[in-house]
Parts: sequence; structure tokens; C-alpha cells
Amino acid sequence: MADEPRDHPATLAAQALGLVDPTTRSIVPPIYPSATYERASDGSYPGGHTYTRDQNPTYEQAEALLTRLEGGQDALLFSSGMAAATTVFETLDTGDHVVAPVQMYWTIQRWLEDLASRGRIVLDLVPNGDQAALEAALRPGRTKIVWVETPANPSCAMTDIAATAGAAHAAGARVVVDSTLCTPVLCRPIEHGADLVMHSATKQLNGHADVLAGALITAQRDAQWERVIHDRGYRGAVLGPFEAWLLLRGMRTLFLRVPHSSISAQRIAEWLTTQSAVSEVFYPGLPTHAGHAIAARQMSGGFGMLLSFRLRGGASAATHVAGRLRLFKNATSLGGVESLVEHRAPVEGPGTRVPDDLLRLSVGIEVVEDLQADLEQALERE
Ligand SMILES: *Cc1c(COP(=O)(O)O)cnc(C)c1O
Repeated sequence: MADEPRDHPATLAAQALGLVDPTTRSIVPPIYPSATYERASDGSYPGGHTYTRDQNPTYEQAEALLTRLEGGQDALLFSSGMAAATTVFETLDTGDHVVAPVQMYWTIQRWLEDLASRGRIVLDLVPNGDQAALEAALRPGRTKIVWVETPANPSCAMTDIAATAGAAHAAGARVVVDSTLCTPVLCRPIEHGADLVMHSATKQLNGHADVLAGALITAQRDAQWERVIHDRGYRGAVLGPFEAWLLLRGMRTLFLRVPHSSISAQRIAEWLTTQSAVSEVFYPGLPTHAGHAIAARQMSGGFGMLLSFRLRGGASAATHVAGRLRLFKNATSLGGVESLVEHRAPVEGPGTRVPDDLLRLSVGIEVVEDLQADLEQALERE
């Protein structure tokens, strides 16, 4: 990589790698809606593209930027975070063993439990960050994937990626990190030993709540990665070119949005700990958080836009506070420019591991005093 410019990641993102269209010299890339590409008279594809389910030129700049920001060798965009995550498991053979955390993005966990109940995989869930439990669960030669989500949604439980990778690699397993809550601004899992990084690009990577997208970034272009490429092309879980273009535009401001939201989230988390209506606050930036030491080691430049807190008044207080907030929109999802609140347990339904008095906040880029005032008026009557 000696001939690559050594610009800061924020500079690379702002300029989307600085690429300029060779024909028109436009600094904003065009959108390629074409589903198909012309062959030459000898049947070859001189443009390097065949059919949009396999490759679309609109993806290439966004994938190249993600590859650079995560420090990997290649990246692929998908039609959603779930499409990216499920593709990883599609590369497994029947009966392969998977270890995943107890606390993680709910829909991926339901998917894994469903695969396991149909005999497609063997699944063990281990408490987040519990190294002894992980080592006990690993089955050398049989465990193929150790799934990590850190901080985990919504409890912000932390996992040490390097320690996990050490144990997983010794057992012949690969480590996949759902790094949606960090983005490459706050953590680069490949530097800590991860084999694959997964993002719901719907969240802070795009950042404007107007695109559903996912991404995988690989540390190595190996046989497993070839399976991922094959699976995306065969199953067709691809992104539309317009969405890929919007995602690239969103990522240009990533390094402004993520630190801003993190600073505000830190301040709101600290303030919530002083509120009598609040019984517990979960945020990795709080020194009292169980995973703070790991977060301080593994994350840099902030602790993220997501935090959760529990209310002394129980589930009904959580419903009332969420309903009284005005600036925090009562909506699912996270990582947009506007702040959101969600009463999480009813969303996940029966079997959820989330306490029923927990509210999850996604902190946007509004003025933090306004957000705090909104929380203050909503908590006042509890
Ligand atoms: C939203 C989310 C996903 C799923 O991504 P979609 O783009 O909604 O399919 C996966 N993991 C985490 C941590 C998420 O927040």
C-alpha cells in the first residue's frame, strides 16, 4: 500500500476517496440504473460488468470507501443489514456450530434460533463478554463462526474483540463483528482480529434514515469471502443503485455526525444518572458501566450514539416517558440525524431479554441542551 495516499479517514470519507468521473470530471459519481451491460462482438464484457445482480458500478466507490475505512481487503453492499448478516450464515455447511451472544440485535438472534431449530446449524448463546463461557462453548474444528456485537443493542454490553478472536482462531473459528453501533469512526474490528465486519448501513453509516442497506467488509479475500460474493449474486440480496448513491453521500459526513452524537450521548447519559426517576443507565462511556474498561481500550473518539436507561416507575413509566418526549421521536431504528426513543421490550415481544422498564435512545445531531430539556420535561412527572 506504499503508493496509497495516507490521508486521514475523515478526509477519505469527506471526498469519498477523492474519485472523479474520468469522462465528465464530475466529483459526484453518476448513478448507473442499467440492469444489464453490452457484450463485445466476441462475447466478452469490455466494460467489466455483466448484470446488475452480480455487480453495479454505483456500488464500487461506496464499497472501496468502506474497505479503506475498516482496513480490510474487500467490501460488499447488501439490500439490508439483515441480508448482510444472513449471507454470512448461508456460507456455512449444515451442522456447523455457531456461537453468538445472549444480548444482540434481536432479529439476527431470532434468525439463528430458527436456523438451529431446523437443524441447519448448531447454536450456543453465551453471555456477552464472558471469556470463560466462550472458551467452554467453542468446539475445535466444528465451530465456524463466533458472532460479536459490541456495544450490544440495547444494553451496550461490551465484548473484547481481540480476546474473542484469540480463542476463536485457536478453535478454527472465524470472528464476525456486527459493528453497526460503532461505525469505523469509533472502532475498526479488523485491527483487533475480526475476520469479517458487518454493518446495518441503514443506521449511522448512511445516517439520514432514508436508506435500507447493509455491508460486509472482509479482512482477507479467502475462500469464505468467495462464498459470500457467490451468495450475494445468486440470492440477489443487492442494493438498488439509487440507495447505494445515497449511502455514499451519507458517508461523506460520517466523521462529523458520529463524534457529535457521541459527545451528546455521553452528556445525556451522565445527566440521566443524576435523575431520581431513573434507576439505571447503560452507556459504555460511563465509568460505572460493566464494559467501560473494554470500551476505553477498543473504541476511540467516543462511545457511540446509543444508550438505554431503566425507570423506577416500571413499564408504565417507560410508556409514559416515551409518549411525552417531543424532540425524541418515538420510533424504531437508530443512528439518524434526528434523535429517537424506543420502549424496547414491547417491540421485541414475548421472550425478550430486555427489561420492560427500559427505554433506548438514539442520539442525533440536534443541540444537546434541547435534547436534555426534552428529557427533563418528560421525566418531571415520574
Ligand atoms: C438495525 C440493525 C441490524 C439490522 O439491519 P437492517 O438494515 O435493519 O436490516 C443489525 N444489527 C444491528 C446492531 C442493528 O441495529
